[in-house]
Amino acid sequence: MKTVSNNVYAFSKDNPPELTVPSGSVVKFVTKDCFANQITSENCKNALASFNWNTVNPATGPLAIEGAEPGDALRVEIQKIDLTGESAVLMTGKGLGICQKDFESLEARVVRVRQGFVEFSDKIKLPVRPMIGVIGVAPAGEAVNNGTPDEHGGNMDCKEIVQGAAVYLPVNVKGALLAMGDIHAVMADGESGGTGAEMPAEVTVKVDVLKNFPLPTPLIENDNCYMAVHSAKTADEAIQHAVFKAVRLVMEKIPGTSRYDAVTLVSLAADLRICQVVDPLITVRCELPKKLFE
Ligand code: CA
Ligand code: ZN
Repeated sequence: MKTVSNNVYAFSKDNPPELTVPSGSVVKFVTKDCFANQITSENCKNALASFNWNTVNPATGPLAIEGAEPGDALRVEIQKIDLTGESAVLMTGKGLGICQKDFESLEARVVRVRQGFVEFSDKIKLPVRPMIGVIGVAPAGEAVNNGTPDEHGGNMDCKEIVQGAAVYLPVNVKGALLAMGDIHAVMADGESGGTGAEMPAEVTVKVDVLKNFPLPTPLIENDNCYMAVHSAKTADEAIQHAVFKAVRLVMEKIPGTSRYDAVTLVSLAADLRICQVVDPLITVRCELPKKLFE
């Protein structure tokens, strides 16, 4: 299988592609954890003293897809997420997360990840549910650092970007320039402390260029739902636009639906959920059950 492993630190039209493949290809992305694999169980206590913050949030790629042109959409099917190694890094403290004022310093911890569980403590073991924190394409204009989510995707930290899901992203530049990283062994909606269980991984995806894709992006699809995603400066604004996108999605999927019917259907059937509240923009999703469209 074709593999990519170069690291970039921003989604940018100026990043040269590591690899170019035809639409329909399956490619493996080898990703570092969001701390660029700098923190280990051995060095954990002192790792932050000599930590290189310039290399945080590496994304692997970019991958160019032949025939992808501005105005198209890119469908990225997450076929497999294989976590690498047997430990994950957690971090919270001063300057990071919702409860940052409770701490006088930033602290990293390393936990074991074995046999399908994150071993949070002797008593508390959380089943792994690997997800992709950062996945996106190059924006048309200025580069966006990997820590920030927006219309190009990026650091959406949505716990539903798991094996078996598909992510739809807008193609803004020729080739799309797909990159991803920041895999979490497990994370809750919100990521309120500032990190998930951060791990390196190997992610296998199938990429397809879609011409004339009518639905709002970024969009996530799994067996049960379409999820309209929006990131904005405030939670209020992210919520509003996630709902606007869900309404647009209903009107596209059920031709002839009035605006009133679309708004009320979303109100009755589409759950609003928080993806993350700790990145420079806040990310929200609105989940539309697929059975509405059958
Ligand atoms: Ca993240
Ligand atoms: Zn992360």
